[in-house]
Amino acid sequence: MRIDGQRRSTKFEDRGAGGGGGGGIPVHALGSLFRLLGPKGMLIAVVVLGVGYFVLPASLKQQLFGALTGGGQQAASGQGAGSVCETSAENGKACDFSRVVLGSTEDVWTPIFQRGQLPQYGEPAGPYQEPTLVVFANGVSTGGCGNASSAVGPFYCPADRKLYIDPSFYDVMEKKLRAPGDFAQAYVISHEVGHHVQNLLGSSRLKVKGETANQASVRVELQADCLAGVWGHTARASLEITEEDLSEALTAAHAIGDDTLGHSDERQFTHGSSAQRKRWFRRGFESGDARQCDTFAVQNYAQL
Ligand SMILES: [Zn+2]
Repeated sequence: MRIDGQRRSTKFEDRGAGGGGGGGIPVHALGSLFRLLGPKGMLIAVVVLGVGYFVLPASLKQQLFGALTGGGQQAASGQGAGSVCETSAENGKACDFSRVVLGSTEDVWTPIFQRGQLPQYGEPAGPYQEPTLVVFANGVSTGGCGNASSAVGPFYCPADRKLYIDPSFYDVMEKKLRAPGDFAQAYVISHEVGHHVQNLLGSSRLKVKGETANQASVRVELQADCLAGVWGHTARASLEITEEDLSEALTAAHAIGDDTLGHSDERQFTHGSSAQRKRWFRRGFESGDARQCDTFAVQNYAQL
């Protein structure tokens, strides 16, 4: 893919390194993580939460982000030291790249919302409202989703409509998840933007009668993957997205499937299997039609 000559989004905040003195995810939360997820620890923490902080059950979220409210030690935003983007040439590149991808998602979703070519959940969604991308290092405090450390990976906070990413996650993808490549990184951003789209559509809060919270989460996550694919389809020409790029995204989608991450019990799935994640991404990428992303319209959960 090619990013030179592209528009950079202005909806971008550089928060710097997380507020000093105990910023980031509380130790308590890390303890919970290990208890919940076992010794695979960090990798799973990064990944499972990583691409999907968004739809964790509220109770779990409360555990993971225990210091959310009433903790009183929420770091003020902007309190962080300096600029993430200026810390290193690598970070500078990551920031610039992220702004291009975000700008491209704006260009893609604005007309789709204008035309109303979207799955319908109740009232029409209205015009597209652009989310803001926040880059941070170490830890960050959000406007309504509590404090988070880099260990949780990229996430979207529906309360303030912002995407949060520590550029070091790109390194995690490349080295730990073996999912390298710029388009794999773009997939992560566009997946989080997918959660924003869901927030505007109202599908992020849906639950099919009789299904568990984890199953609702899988439906939401697979839809976000599909919406990421819709972005890829639409941006294909302008960003010169190639077949190789597509396989980078599919490699990334595979790497963060629940089964590949070590869950053998399907009931524990929160994001879907590797096969499902690839299938839904591809479905969006091939059709370019967000209406094809209605994971909630699939009646039989086993057929997702
Ligand atoms: Zn997600």
